[in-house]
Amino acid sequence: MSKINSYSIMGMRVDDVNMEETLETIDGFIKNGGSHLVVTLGVEMVMASDKDKEFSEIVNSASLVTPDSVGILWAGRRAGYPLRQRVPGVELIDAAAKESAKYGWRTFFLGAKPGVAKAAGEKLKEKYPGFNFVGEYHGYFKDDEEPLKAIEEAKPEIIFIALGFPAQEKWFMRNKDRLGNMVGVGIGGSFDVISGNIKRAPAIFRKLGLEWFHRLITQPSRFMRMAVLPAFALKVLFKGV
Ligand code: UDP
Repeated sequence: MSKINSYSIMGMRVDDVNMEETLETIDGFIKNGGSHLVVTLGVEMVMASDKDKEFSEIVNSASLVTPDSVGILWAGRRAGYPLRQRVPGVELIDAAAKESAKYGWRTFFLGAKPGVAKAAGEKLKEKYPGFNFVGEYHGYFKDDEEPLKAIEEAKPEIIFIALGFPAQEKWFMRNKDRLGNMVGVGIGGSFDVISGNIKRAPAIFRKLGLEWFHRLITQPSRFMRMAVLPAFALKVLFKGV
């Protein structure tokens, strides 16, 4: 695969990768060994980076940063970056499970409310019987030791982590020595979506780039968190990326 081009949006790195390249890159990480964090970058993360230097450093030194949302693509394109495609966490998990015959990574799910990661894994296994789902642990543990024990028993090659940002990225970095050769991918609320707990926006919303609007009307509790979206748009329009 040719070299991956990286760009910066308000000081946060983002890589121009499509889904196929993302899977190939992760496969390379697994084959070559080492500790690799994959970030799926959304607008809320960029807006949080100002106040959380530890988080922005983690993102900027991650092994791969995919553009998760339409806002990231839009901002990048305004700056002339040729970002081709969104690679959202929820689609990345599905694509990895679908391509199990090719990749077959030993996969662990960490995060979300008790029962949700398990339901998400079982749903994917039903859809793609070859999916190599080796274990799961919920995201409301008291100390890191609890999920680490479950992970050590399951011996995964890749962990999808759904603790919300920046907790999921910080959790992986804090435990990277203990995890050893491992790929960790922060994926936010994806298990809730895959398990059917939360419905994804209908295709028409996604096509029009209005997935955020659907989230707002179906989960009004997110209102305060989403207030950063218009602030991001204004910053891009008047200050640039
Ligand atoms: N979560 C968790 N442990 C916590 C807090 C949150 O496992 O202590 C889970 C929560 O159940 C949800 C996910 O983290 O599944 C966060 O989802 P959200 O949509 O808020 O994340 P985003 O995609 O916006 O980062």
